[in-house]
Amino acid sequence: MVVATEELARGSLGAGGSLITRPEILTRALLAGGTEDQKQEWLPKLATAEVMNAVAVTEPDYGSDVAGVKVTATRTGEGDGAGWLINGVKTWCTFGARADVLMLLARTDPDRSTGHRGLSLFVVPKPRGEGHGFAFTQEAGDGGAPGGGTMEGRPIDTIGYRGMHSYEVAFDGWFVPAANLIGREDGEGRGFYYQMAGFENGRLQTAARAVGVMQAAYEAARQYALDRVVFGRPVADYQLTRAKLARMAVIIQASRQFSYAVAGMMAKGEGTLEASMVKAYVCKAAEWVTREAMQIHGGMGYAEEFPVSRYFVDARVLSIFEGADETLCLKVVARRLVAERAA
Ligand SMILES: Cc1cc2nc3c(=O)[nH]c(=O)nc-3n(C[C@H](O)[C@H](O)[C@H](O)COP(=O)(O)OP(=O)(O)OC[C@H]3O[C@@H](n4cnc5c(N)ncnc54)[C@H](O)[C@@H]3O)c2cc1C
Repeated sequence: MVVATEELARGSLGAGGSLITRPEILTRALLAGGTEDQKQEWLPKLATAEVMNAVAVTEPDYGSDVAGVKVTATRTGEGDGAGWLINGVKTWCTFGARADVLMLLARTDPDRSTGHRGLSLFVVPKPRGEGHGFAFTQEAGDGGAPGGGTMEGRPIDTIGYRGMHSYEVAFDGWFVPAANLIGREDGEGRGFYYQMAGFENGRLQTAARAVGVMQAAYEAARQYALDRVVFGRPVADYQLTRAKLARMAVIIQASRQFSYAVAGMMAKGEGTLEASMVKAYVCKAAEWVTREAMQIHGGMGYAEEFPVSRYFVDARVLSIFEGADETLCLKVVARRLVAERAA
């Protein structure tokens, strides 16, 4: 998975790798909490890409502080019509238009004092929508729906990662069948833990994306340095450039090997702390490496016609999503390290 992600990110200006992060997150969440029926229903479809999913966790008021999310799921109907009605607004839902299902975290316990223990995770089916925005209304009887529920998506323009589109998605009485609550009755109140299980692997994968972007930036910089003549000699002839390229290569190799090592640990069911560590380190390293690659390009590094300008903006987002760097270091890495020292 790490090798494939790195190659996708290297070959498609960063965003390609994120295509397989979403199914990875939902798959891990289903493995952590899904019933046998749910695993049989969704895992093969996710694995073959028959079903593409997006992740709807972040809200306008709650990103890092995800335990506070306030989109609600309220029980409705009975028998074949039993299910949940989703209300509220999610944001930054990447691939939200194209997705066939959303992995949605919602509050099923109206008592907000229950915090993260009041959250549940749903697989929310939806039609495919247009990239420039979408609006759907549910028909009565559609999968047991009482009818009239709406879902509207507004795209968010971004400075980079333009190969993927993120949406703010508003739900008004959108019906989800009871069978789509991950874990069914046992999953009520456990959604926070299931989505966290999903995100652990997502972090490792984001590190692999960062390695791919760095590698692409390094290759572009090396080629440009060989081709571009300044003061009568190729930029690559100058020792300063060679030292820069060497430092970039060292950091890329260290990042790659760190990712492989964590992948090995996670394959054995270990390495959750290290998955956060590798994400924190490698994503920041990608900012530096792509910055140096842009620098070697001089002015043309800032021109959209040169891919390195995209690598630079693509790398910038990696420390923000899948756990903002500060939150990751504070809430996962430091918390674990301090707890271990105290023990
Ligand atoms: C391109 C893109 C794609 C995304 N895709 C998805 C997606 O598919 N699904 C999804 O659900 N979300 C997605 N996100 C959302 C992403 O996960 C959030 O942006 C991220 O979790 C941070 O939340 P926030 O933006 O609300 O920042 P905030 O939580 O508002 O944080 C603002 C700043 O405060 C810092 N901070 C937070 N807590 C502390 C603290 N205790 N001490 C000091 N500093 C702190 C943060 O690190 C950050 O620097 C995406 C975001 C982007 C940019």
